[in-house]
Amino acid sequence: MTAQTIDTLRARVSGPVIAPGDPGYDEARQVYNFMIDARPVAVVRCADTADVAAVVRHAAETGAELAVRGGAHSVPGFGTADGALVADLSGLSSVAVDPSARIARVGGGATWGGFDGAAGEHGLATTGGIISTTGVGGLTLGGGIGYLTRGYGLSCDNLLTAQVVTADGQTLTASETEHPDLFWALRGGGGNFGVVTEFTFRLHPVGEIYGGPMFFELSDGPDVLGYFNEFIRTAPREYGGFPAFQIAPPLPFVPENRVGEPFVAVVSCWSGATQDGEKVLQGFRDVASPVAEMVGPMPYPALNSAFDALVPRGLQHYWKAAFVGDLTAEAIQTHMEHGSRVPVVNSTMHIYPVNGACHDVAADATAFGHRDAMYAVNIAGMWPDPADNEANMAWVRDYYAAIEPYSQGGGYVNFASPDDQPKVAANYGANYARLQQVKAAYDPGNLFHLNQNIDPRTQTQ
Ligand SMILES: Cc1cc2nc3c(=O)[nH]c(=O)nc-3n(C[C@H](O)[C@H](O)[C@H](O)COP(=O)(O)OP(=O)(O)OC[C@H]3O[C@@H](n4cnc5c(N)ncnc54)[C@H](O)[C@@H]3O)c2cc1C
Repeated sequence: MTAQTIDTLRARVSGPVIAPGDPGYDEARQVYNFMIDARPVAVVRCADTADVAAVVRHAAETGAELAVRGGAHSVPGFGTADGALVADLSGLSSVAVDPSARIARVGGGATWGGFDGAAGEHGLATTGGIISTTGVGGLTLGGGIGYLTRGYGLSCDNLLTAQVVTADGQTLTASETEHPDLFWALRGGGGNFGVVTEFTFRLHPVGEIYGGPMFFELSDGPDVLGYFNEFIRTAPREYGGFPAFQIAPPLPFVPENRVGEPFVAVVSCWSGATQDGEKVLQGFRDVASPVAEMVGPMPYPALNSAFDALVPRGLQHYWKAAFVGDLTAEAIQTHMEHGSRVPVVNSTMHIYPVNGACHDVAADATAFGHRDAMYAVNIAGMWPDPADNEANMAWVRDYYAAIEPYSQGGGYVNFASPDDQPKVAANYGANYARLQQVKAAYDPGNLFHLNQNIDPRTQTQ
């Protein structure tokens, strides 16, 4: 893109256009995963939907590669690329809550912290991510797994409408009744179909929750994981939470002499009455005595930001994902072997249950793949020093290779790494062929390809 075309772009938008050499370029080009070090041709801080449409048209006209950035958390760094034109949506972060209608209108670049906080003021919430800095946009479009999945479904199951700028620069509203094929695809198909400038979500009464992390000895791990696997099949839907492997951080609730050791953790969120939650969580303590715990009543947004400090912007990221039907004794043994070797306090492995309300929705009702799975497993390698890349990536790869035989052959698209693109059809599962049809209808030239990409030109049927 020449200086002249950048000037043309500047004249077309009201938000700032930050190009190489401009003040703030180095900050503007960075995404959350610092393993990505791309130099886009310009970053446009879009001020409104008209800016987004202008950037989309400009990319289409000039042939520039287009990157769309919501919360910038994508592990493959889809929110930037060398030589790309970046539509940065961080300025579209408004959250308007209508407590009587129990809906929220949320800008396409909002983060979960902003959303949870605004809805929480009214004792309302919907399913969102467990780290407050993550973008509502990318997380929702890929599905959206969090503490409330068992109670209220995936984030995308709570989507009522989406305002979308499509590849031809038009602005559409997608819902069950308007462009229903597009609305279907947006709920699990990622950023393949256009730029969502505003989401409307259904909200639920979730005020104070009862929960937090419990840390168990590794020697108790098989019993704790086995108990979780039985418990979660019939657990009340007020229970959301997940088992994990986690190195104990230096926090007041961890005995000083155990800081830095790996543990099996269970992080719980009970969204019903506290006294009922106390009984349910006691079930874990009856299996094994926690070494440390920080369980209690707290506002839902507090739990959804409790682990933010473990994963600050600027770490190196390499993740792998698998959908799983059952945690068999063999699978648990495999997790014990690899999870116990978690190399650094920022890294973790989470086993998110996706049953309950998530299973109420038919597998083909939205684009989200593998709705029949019981768990979404995430091996999340995150570490500070690029010098440690080899060793940390090897931990993730070896762990994934070991659990792959126990998985359904696909993983959650939002937990995938750059080298997972060959697995994209398996990750979208049985919905992939229909996704290709919708992609061909709305983005036949694949303008939106910096994502877990659905290629319209290789339709399987
Ligand atoms: C620390 C951390 C914690 C996480 N926790 C969770 C969790 O609890 N649950 C969960 O389900 N996932 C979680 N994730 C994964 C997360 O869902 C994905 O990384 C997701 O892609 C992040 O969305 P984003 O908008 O922040 O990222 P971005 O990098 O900005 O975008 C990701 C993709 O979505 C597209 N996109 C973003 N916004 C829009 C939009 N408005 N319109 C169109 N396309 C858009 C982008 O083009 C890109 O392809 C976590 C990730 C991290 C790094």
